[in-house]
Amino acid sequence: MEGELKDYLGIPRRLIPWFPSVDEEKCNGCSICVKACKHEVYSFDIAKKKAFVANPYSCEVFCQSCQFQCSLEAISFPHKTEVKEVIKGLRDRYPPK
Ligand code: SF4
Ligand code: SF4
Repeated sequence: MEGELKDYLGIPRRLIPWFPSVDEEKCNGCSICVKACKHEVYSFDIAKKKAFVANPYSCEVFCQSCQFQCSLEAISFPHKTEVKEVIKGLRDRYPPK
């Protein structure tokens, strides 16, 4: 997928479960997140008039910039500590370069 990040500190990006989720009930379709993310993680669903996550693995690991810009708190992320545990568990297979 274009723009997809290949790895995070030597770990394949697709193994790291860090990306936003949009709560459709809360989203009012303002598009702020779509414009805010330079990695094009979001797209806009014209029919539903909502943002959606189109390219989850293009998201920078541990970035939360879009979440802070959504005034309706429609964007959420997994818990950082849980994702850090996943990364720790992958270190044996993917040692630091
Ligand atoms: S910033 Fe929030 S309310 Fe606006 S489109 Fe994105 S998720 Fe929806
Ligand atoms: S957290 Fe950062 S990289 Fe990920 S979708 Fe939001 S703005 Fe884009």
